[in-house]
Amino acid sequence: MSAYLDDTQRWRLFNGIEHGLTEFVDEVTPHEVSHQWWGHMVGFTTFHDQWLSEGFAFFSAGGYLQLTEKSPKKYLDYWDHARHTIVDKNNFGRRANDAGPLWLGLLLNSAKNAGAYNSVVYRKGGYILRMLRSLMHDSKEGDKPFMAMMQDFVQQHMNGNASTESFQRVVEKHITPGINVTGDGKMDWFFSEWVYGTALPRYKFDYTLTPQPDGKCLLKGSLTQSEVKDNFVMLVPLYADFDGTTARLGTVRIDGNKTLDNFRPPSRPRSFRWPVKTE
Ligand SMILES: [Zn+2]
Repeated sequence: MSAYLDDTQRWRLFNGIEHGLTEFVDEVTPHEVSHQWWGHMVGFTTFHDQWLSEGFAFFSAGGYLQLTEKSPKKYLDYWDHARHTIVDKNNFGRRANDAGPLWLGLLLNSAKNAGAYNSVVYRKGGYILRMLRSLMHDSKEGDKPFMAMMQDFVQQHMNGNASTESFQRVVEKHITPGINVTGDGKMDWFFSEWVYGTALPRYKFDYTLTPQPDGKCLLKGSLTQSEVKDNFVMLVPLYADFDGTTARLGTVRIDGNKTLDNFRPPSRPRSFRWPVKTE
């Protein structure tokens, strides 16, 4: 209720500035508003599918921060905090992520992992949608393929209930060449890893920049994926940040536990402050 009050009303109600509440309100208001789409316009079929409401609302509140805040700090902190709640150990030495797959919904909670449902269904659910947005990002069209998929998802389920399976079918209908990992137009690889699985890959990225005779710089990268099963595959997006200008270098496919050395980013960044060659 207090999330819907404006700053002045809240100031009067709580008799002063309540910083914790302001942070809460900045995130919770867009979350609750987005339930008009995720939960109301499009419902969910069973408790297995509740992430289509809560995870999507968590994602939407992050999108709101990204679009409305001048600095990216709040947006980045929002996701970083979410990551900690998923992977940090609680007082019983348990990580929320270890409680089980997202698909178990409310069943994830137990006496020794009381916050698991909230961390996994809301936050990991939000991350899954964020990953899809990132993977469907197109160097020319930006978020358009992802947006078209999400709008189709709403159209197909308007005033009805969606399921994890029906959402996967919509993603597959809008599959892009970049995420068609198994080449059969299916997204089983992604859903089995993130929705029906508990994999938690670890990444390490190293790079060198070597000045070239022509005044440019050569970028060489090495990426390691670890702590996964051999058949775990991920498409890892790579970004470069030069003096606050972020450019996407491309996406690197990596299978199982391995290191890719001196790989060549698939696309060449269009603009940098100083010229960079990629290899
Ligand atoms: Zn919610």
